[in-house]
Amino acid sequence: MNRLDHDTILAGAGESPADAWRRRDLDVVWHPCTQMREHPHQLPLLPIARGEREWLVGMDGRRYLDAVSSWWTCIHGHAEPRIAEAIARQARTLEHVILAGCTHEPAVELAERLIAIAPRQADRAPLAKVFFADNGSAGVEVALKMAFHWFRNAGETRRTRFVALEGSYHGETLGALAVGDIPLYRRVYAPLLAEALFAPSPDAFLAVDGESAEQRAHRAADALAAMLAEHGDTICALILEPLIQCAGGMRMHHPAYLQRARQLCDAHGIFLIADEIAVGFGRTGTMFACEQAGIAPDLLCLSKGLTGGSLPLAAVLTTQRIYDGFLDDSRERAFLHSHSYTGNPLGCAAALASLNIFDSDDVIARNVGTARKLAERADAFRSHPRVVDVRQTGMVVAIEMTTDADAHDGTAVEIAGNRGLRAYREAVARGVLLRPLGDVLYWFPPYCIGDDALDLLADTTRRAIDAAFGGPTCA
Ligand code: PMP
Repeated sequence: MNRLDHDTILAGAGESPADAWRRRDLDVVWHPCTQMREHPHQLPLLPIARGEREWLVGMDGRRYLDAVSSWWTCIHGHAEPRIAEAIARQARTLEHVILAGCTHEPAVELAERLIAIAPRQADRAPLAKVFFADNGSAGVEVALKMAFHWFRNAGETRRTRFVALEGSYHGETLGALAVGDIPLYRRVYAPLLAEALFAPSPDAFLAVDGESAEQRAHRAADALAAMLAEHGDTICALILEPLIQCAGGMRMHHPAYLQRARQLCDAHGIFLIADEIAVGFGRTGTMFACEQAGIAPDLLCLSKGLTGGSLPLAAVLTTQRIYDGFLDDSRERAFLHSHSYTGNPLGCAAALASLNIFDSDDVIARNVGTARKLAERADAFRSHPRVVDVRQTGMVVAIEMTTDADAHDGTAVEIAGNRGLRAYREAVARGVLLRPLGDVLYWFPPYCIGDDALDLLADTTRRAIDAAFGGPTCA
């Protein structure tokens, strides 16, 4: 008996298999990033049976374009056969092994490949070591702890703080939340969070009085310079999301900021942590966003697209210098951080398959054409009366609607406020999974998205904006 037949039997009279799954889900599953009270009536729960390239197929047979690449992970499309095959092959060989004291082929090969493609900077020692973790937030924790611990080992015990940017997001664990600046996510937990300093964001949307994106970047960098001049000797690292502050509303900045930030960190002896968890692996048009500024960080956090969106895995790349700072006879001076699934062979095999796809399909070059098609469709929104900004970096387009500050606290939180909810529902009803960030609708599609899907995306976005402002809905 297949699963759907089984469900039909379990379903109550008149209940479809999809409804049966919804009911069973809500009996037992607590969903992430969700006010569960909004299910099932305000927020439709979508039971998904399978994935296929840029599409998700519901249990009722309906197809949904995954315009958000399932939380920005699924770069090559769903159920990619080459990744699936690599995982299956690895699962039949070695599904997992403790990475403390043991090693395995996929971990070593993946570390070598990541080091080979990592961003480089002239006159700077390259990233040379890889520490594995198993999700983005864990990767951020690793980078923060490493930076702090390195200074401690070096006897610089005053350096206990981090600088992060306003509007930033680095994950939900307590360390990552402490360097995030989205009030709805962090406010409740504030008493538990380590104190961080927040520097003004270089966000080009915040430019004033005819200021260019580049001028805005320099103004923010000047503010960072002043902050570091005052507090520099108590800081261990600056953490930032290069080029796009994603969860903060797909806010984009000029690469000049990254160059200035790199110089300032060097001038103050502070590490630069680049969180490329969302933007790494081709999303911004280059393999890594840092490349567009010609800089290399001291610590580079990768996850999400690392495995092509198939399995949870994170990697933190760092320099020989940082690695050497932990070599000692004392175990306490070692980096003892560990997770049970660190360097899981299935995840590493999936990541290697994903990197092979970049080579065999020439993904970065192909994305240039796809990004152009996104730009053509995004252009039509520039004159929309409800749209205040249309921006794009590579394979990310953001369409910012006029503000709805009364409906939420003005920060970009997923499906916040009635407007976001209406836009989301309208898009889902038309077969597109489009999760607004506050007043920002964005396109973050799998790289394999086809022309028809692009047309559907643009058309649905227009209708979602209408619906957000109380216009016609198709439901
Ligand atoms: N950093 C950034 C920039 C992110 O966008 C995210 C997730 N959206 C994270 C860290 C946290 O990753 P995870 O959800 O895998 O913990």
